[in-house]
Amino acid sequence: MQYMHLGKTGLKVSRFGLGCMRFPKSEEDAIAMVRYAVDNGVNYLDTAYMYKDSEVITGKALQDGYRNKVFIATKSPIWKIGRHEDFEKYLDEQLERLGTDHIDIYLLHNLNHDNWEKVKRFDGLTFLDKMLQKGKIRHKGFSFHGTLPAFKQIVDAFDWEITQIQLNILDENQQAGMEGLKYAAGKGLAAIIMEPLRGGYMLGNVPETVYDLLNQYPEKRTLVEWCFRWLYNMPEVSVILSGTSTLEQLKDNLRIFNESALNVMSEADQNLIKKIREAFESNNSIGCTSCRYCIPCPQGVSIPEIFRLYNSNQLMKSHWVDKGMYRDNLLPSGSGADKCISCEICLEHCPQELNIPVLLKKVHKELTVPGDWS
Ligand code: SF4
Ligand code: SF4
Repeated sequence: MQYMHLGKTGLKVSRFGLGCMRFPKSEEDAIAMVRYAVDNGVNYLDTAYMYKDSEVITGKALQDGYRNKVFIATKSPIWKIGRHEDFEKYLDEQLERLGTDHIDIYLLHNLNHDNWEKVKRFDGLTFLDKMLQKGKIRHKGFSFHGTLPAFKQIVDAFDWEITQIQLNILDENQQAGMEGLKYAAGKGLAAIIMEPLRGGYMLGNVPETVYDLLNQYPEKRTLVEWCFRWLYNMPEVSVILSGTSTLEQLKDNLRIFNESALNVMSEADQNLIKKIREAFESNNSIGCTSCRYCIPCPQGVSIPEIFRLYNSNQLMKSHWVDKGMYRDNLLPSGSGADKCISCEICLEHCPQELNIPVLLKKVHKELTVPGDWS
C-alpha cells in the first residue's frame, strides 16, 4: 500500500481509502471487510452520519484494537441542522456510534451554495474551531457537491485542511472538477476523492465501444484500473475512496492500489482516457449514481430505479426487457415517473444536480413509446 502525507495535517494516509457507504448487507461481512482492508494497509475510513448504519458498523469493526490503526473521517449531517447547538449534538452521537473519543477528520457534509449559507447562518465554522479545542475532532474539512464558483468561495472562506470532492474521468469539468482540485491544492488543502467510478454508474453503463478501446490498447488494464490510475497519477490527490460492497471488489481494489504511484500516465494513456470519456458521453445516459439521497419521494416515485432502467435501455439500444420492467412492474406498483408532481423536493438532495422532475418526464415518455415493447 502506498501512503501520502495528508496536506498540512501531518497524517500519513493510505492512498486507498475505504468508503463505508456501500457496505455488504450482512453486518458480519461488513466488519470482516473493514478488518481485511485494515490488515492489508488501509488506514483511512470514510463514513457519515447520513450513511444509514455505517457509523455503528464501522465502530464495531474498529473494536479489538483496530481503532488505533486507522484514521476515521466522518461528516456532520448538514441536512438535519436547525440551530447552532445541533452541530455538537450530532457530533456527540457520532462519537458514541463509532465508539471513539475523537474523530480524526471531521467534514461538513455535502456543501454547495445552499448548504454553505446554512453553515454560515448557524455558525458552523465556530463549531469546528470549538470542537478542535475540546479535542473531539482533530482535523477539519468539508465535502462538496456543487458548482466551481461556490467551491472556490468556500475554500477561501476558512482555514480548511481537507476537502472531499467528486472526481472521475467523466467529471473532469463537473462540480469542483480538475480546476477545483488544483485551486484547493494551491491553497494548501489536501484532497480526498470520492466517486472515482461515479458511484458505480460507470461500471453499470459501459458502452460496447469502451470495451473495444480497452481490448485494442496495448497495455491491458480493466476500466476500474484505468479509472483509479488516472486519479492516483495526480500529485494533488491524497486519498481515493472506494466504497466496495464485497470482499472480492475490495481485494481487486487493493491489488490495483498496491502499484499506485504518481505520474504514471503517459500521453497515450491520457488519450485513451479521453476516448473512453467520449464513448460514455455519446451514450446519452443519466448521471445518477444511485446514492438514494432523493428517497423517499413523497409521491413514492422510485427515482434511482427509474433512471437505472432508462440507462440500461440506452445501453441495450432500446431493449424490451427494461421497458417491460417499467411498464409491468414500476407503473402498476404506483412508483413510476407518472406519479411525479414536480414538487421539486428531491432537487435539494441530489448531489449530481440532476433536474429530476424534468428527467422523469423524458424517461417516462421514452420508456412508454407505444408499440415498442418487443
Ligand atoms: S419532484 Fe417528483 S420525484 Fe421529486 S420529490 Fe417531487 S414528486 Fe418526487
Ligand atoms: S437522482 Fe440524484 S440523489 Fe437520486 S439517486 Fe440519483 S444521484 Fe442520487
